Amino acid sequence: MTARIIDGKAFAVALSKAVASSTAAIKGAHGFTPGLAVVLVGEDPASSVYVASKARETVAAGMNSFEHKLPADAPESELLDIIARLNADEAVDGILVQLPLPKHIDTNKVLGAISPDKDVDGFHVINAGRLATGQSSLVPCTPWGSMLLLKATLGSLSGLEAVVVGRSNIVGKPIAQLLLAADCTVTIAHSRTRDLAEVCRRADILIAAVGRPEMIRGDWIKQGATVIDVGINRVPAPEKGEGKTKLVGDVAFAEAKEVAGAITPVPGGVGPMTIASLLANTLTAATRRRGLPEPTDFADACARLMA
Ligand code: NDP
Repeated sequence: MTARIIDGKAFAVALSKAVASSTAAIKGAHGFTPGLAVVLVGEDPASSVYVASKARETVAAGMNSFEHKLPADAPESELLDIIARLNADEAVDGILVQLPLPKHIDTNKVLGAISPDKDVDGFHVINAGRLATGQSSLVPCTPWGSMLLLKATLGSLSGLEAVVVGRSNIVGKPIAQLLLAADCTVTIAHSRTRDLAEVCRRADILIAAVGRPEMIRGDWIKQGATVIDVGINRVPAPEKGEGKTKLVGDVAFAEAKEVAGAITPVPGGVGPMTIASLLANTLTAATRRRGLPEPTDFADACARLMA
């Protein structure tokens, strides 16, 4: 059996289209343009590329993009001042502080300073708490995008055994909460889990969010399972030439696709969904803050566009 490959790239294009058309409808009906502010501290090359593509895609979706760049040695107080200004700015619906932050800045303090209603990364403790208690919240982008892929692949997830490998606040824990909310039976595994391979073999849905290249082997996967590989790892690729590298996931893809029912590739799976999910969150934040009806059900809109 060879798994169906879940095309996150195509799905992200569909989601971005759904967001753009919803943005246009909201602009037409209510006369405002949603705005996303991204704050970057320092010049980490990967973060700079990521921030530039967020800005490009925000504008492509018909929203306003605001960028704030601070030098790597900017004091924490300067970053907190910018966040306070953005919290108060009516033109800003979403605020994202690009992580990681330099070591002299307290990340939790910074994330906690963002207004929960504008917290489009969904990392504020208020949003984490709302998610955990089943209340309306802004949900972290990568977990939310992963759930859209799962729902489009499986339809109802009710009653399925889900195993999430990884328990970070930004990926593992929120994905586990979303799976629980979708009526899965959820196990969260981590570096202290005993016999991880055996735990993974129970999974109808296996989520890998570890950050270790190809750690999850084909024989850890139940026949027909759906595998979502969140991991992004850069590894040497001598087959491409000296000094070359390539991206791989946390799952040994070539082995896993012979066993799984469906699987996300790396690259081209979960990764492309993240920015599209961020734009969807910005639109949701914009409508909620103004007391307007929620934008389209993006899961349905995407499924229709993908059909
Ligand atoms: P973290 O490093 O914060 O968390 C990794 C988790 O994996 C931890 O809970 C850790 O356990 C667990 N872990 C580490 N080693 C093992 C092991 N040998 N066996 C079992 N569990 C283990 O990573 P993130 O959650 O931030 O990211 C995970 C991956 O997802 C990374 O590759 C990252 O690049 C990628 N990512 C991709 C995104 C995207 O697609 N857009 C967005 C965000 C992340 P413990 O808690 O016990 O230490």
